[in-house]
Amino acid sequence: MPITAHNLCHEYSPGTPYAIKALKDVSLEIADGEIVGLIGHTGSGKSTLIQHFNGLLKPTSGWIQVQGVNTVGKGVNLRQLRQKVGLVFQYPEHQLFEETVAADVAFGPKNLGLGKDRLEQRVHDALAAVDLDLDEIGHRSPFELSGGQMRRVAIAGVLAMEPEILILDEPTAGLDPRGRNDILSHLRRIHQHRRLTLIIVSHSMDEIAAMVDRIIVMDQGTIHADGSPREIFAQGEDLRAIGLDVPPLTSLMLELQRRGMSVPTDVLTVQEARQALLQSLKGVDGDA
Ligand code: ADP
Ligand code: MG
Repeated sequence: MPITAHNLCHEYSPGTPYAIKALKDVSLEIADGEIVGLIGHTGSGKSTLIQHFNGLLKPTSGWIQVQGVNTVGKGVNLRQLRQKVGLVFQYPEHQLFEETVAADVAFGPKNLGLGKDRLEQRVHDALAAVDLDLDEIGHRSPFELSGGQMRRVAIAGVLAMEPEILILDEPTAGLDPRGRNDILSHLRRIHQHRRLTLIIVSHSMDEIAAMVDRIIVMDQGTIHADGSPREIFAQGEDLRAIGLDVPPLTSLMLELQRRGMSVPTDVLTVQEARQALLQSLKGVDGDA
């Protein structure tokens, strides 16, 4: 398993009046090539959890193994681990700092001892993966770009390390709908082409429902639910209780159910919803 966590706990500022148990007995396994949505209300522990995936944070108790490496094991090579596990922080564009886009994307892989041509190829490919052209914008300052483009440059910087696991913390936060869709469709394509394990943190069910195989729902430092989008949406009311927005279609189905119609709540597409409604109406009227 690329990622296995067992009874993972993390406490910030332990032994002080500010102590916070941010993770409580989190156990999970993430398989090779999976595409996982990590969902939860603000403060539920998402960012704390993913920082354990590349050893930035260490468990207070319990353990985690990533690509065969126990992050608190003796002699663990965290540098090597972080090459394999690319972590894109929230608002990653705040960490752009080089004078040109090309230099920024090359910053990580530059230290891997690649020759000039291979380095340039990596920078080119990483930018292309987020639909940016090295020849066109490589020489420009990242700070002249639009917000969405800056974010894509920052993501390219992590991709250029060619990670086996790619984790993004709220990659669409603060972008307009078009920018959000762009990022998500690039991520889908990157997952298909590079065959990596992809973990996307979001606080919006609707946003990632259609693109992930699996949703892990966090609440107050624990895993509240873990399953396919269909399985998770079937628990719509339960999700609302922990402050999550169910997708609009689920919401519609729940309301119809509340009003006495017999409809499923685990629909994912408009087509499925239409089918379910027709079926239900036929059942009611007999001749509809
Ligand atoms: P999320 O990413 O789901 O919003 P976080 O992992 O950031 O959740 O936070 C989980 C809990 O840990 C929250 O109560 C938060 O206030 C707390 N927390 C997060 N980072 C720190 C930190 N660096 N120091 C102290 N407490 C923190
Ligand atoms: Mg967070």
